[in-house]
Amino acid sequence: MSLEIRKISKFFGGMKALDGVSLSVETGEMICFLGPSGCGKTTLLRIIAGLESADGGSIYLDGRDLSSLPARKRNFGVVFQSYSLFPNLSVAANVAYGLECRRWPGAKIRTRVEEMLALVHLGDHARKLPHQLSGGQQQRVALARALAPEPSLLLLDEPLSALDAQVREELQEEIRRVQQHLKITSIMVTHDQEEALSMADRVMVMKDGRVMQTGTPMDIYRKPENSFVAQFIGKMNVLPAQKEIPVQSHVAAEGSRPRVIGIRPEDVQIACCSREEGTFNGVVDQVVRLGNLTRVSLRVGNIMGGEKDFTIVSELQGMGDGLEVGASLPLCVQPENVRVLE
Ligand code: ATP
Repeated sequence: MSLEIRKISKFFGGMKALDGVSLSVETGEMICFLGPSGCGKTTLLRIIAGLESADGGSIYLDGRDLSSLPARKRNFGVVFQSYSLFPNLSVAANVAYGLECRRWPGAKIRTRVEEMLALVHLGDHARKLPHQLSGGQQQRVALARALAPEPSLLLLDEPLSALDAQVREELQEEIRRVQQHLKITSIMVTHDQEEALSMADRVMVMKDGRVMQTGTPMDIYRKPENSFVAQFIGKMNVLPAQKEIPVQSHVAAEGSRPRVIGIRPEDVQIACCSREEGTFNGVVDQVVRLGNLTRVSLRVGNIMGGEKDFTIVSELQGMGDGLEVGASLPLCVQPENVRVLE
């Protein structure tokens, strides 16, 4: 089902937690709300779920206004960070719970529970109690329980943040696989940019209750629209625009010089041999070798007649053999890899 969020606002006392947030979610799409703590992600998810009311704006599910529909009638599957399973019920009984509330017939419940547990690879654990499972397994049960009643929307609020890195990665793939298999429209809240980029069809980046940018992971990473998105998603050199660093041709054509540009560290090439336009010098300040990657900070500025010194970071594949602090090296950046930031 499709979801249309129009100009949602929310106040807590005098504090504006959401400030005119709009978003269209297509059927079968997986959207991540991404942003720093306190930006309003959870509040927006709770408003969609019907657990919180908005002070302005509206939400439509397949064209139907949700404002008059209480949470329990929305038929949305919700998964929270804390697994919130019933501790005294078996895995199977946890998954069956929502179906019993909806008065599904017994035989249909048994089939559905089996199907859901197989989907999350827990078929062999049906009779166990939650405390007999690992955190990752408990979250799989929570997912199966949320999906069992065939919800029209799946809402996930930081579902993986209590898990350690490896389990977390496994479950990222798992949730995405299940979501795509069922083609269920889904929204996930996370503050982890890698998680958002790896799982979502589109990411909505938020700050202070506002949308900073909505786009595919590729767009958000390659074409950030402002310096907040540029620096929140991955690493980005945010630099004053200087003539030695090439500026995207369409901006140059407009004749307006931007004040700030962004360049990804992997797009700063060191010791490129051709002395073409866009080549400038940097003095190596620091070299950090990370095994498969080397991060090099270089000082650029006075040496090329700019107003101020600044530091630019370059990331190279491998161990950066021969790179030494103090060396002066030519750097270059392809014009198409320079982003103009607001
Ligand atoms: P986090 O990742 O830390 O959960 P978030 O992006 O999900 O952050 P929200 O939980 O939506 O942010 O909170 C947004 C703002 O609203 C915060 O400043 C928070 O303190 C405030 N807030 C949230 N719920 C309430 C509430 N029930 N009463 C008062 N203020 C609230």
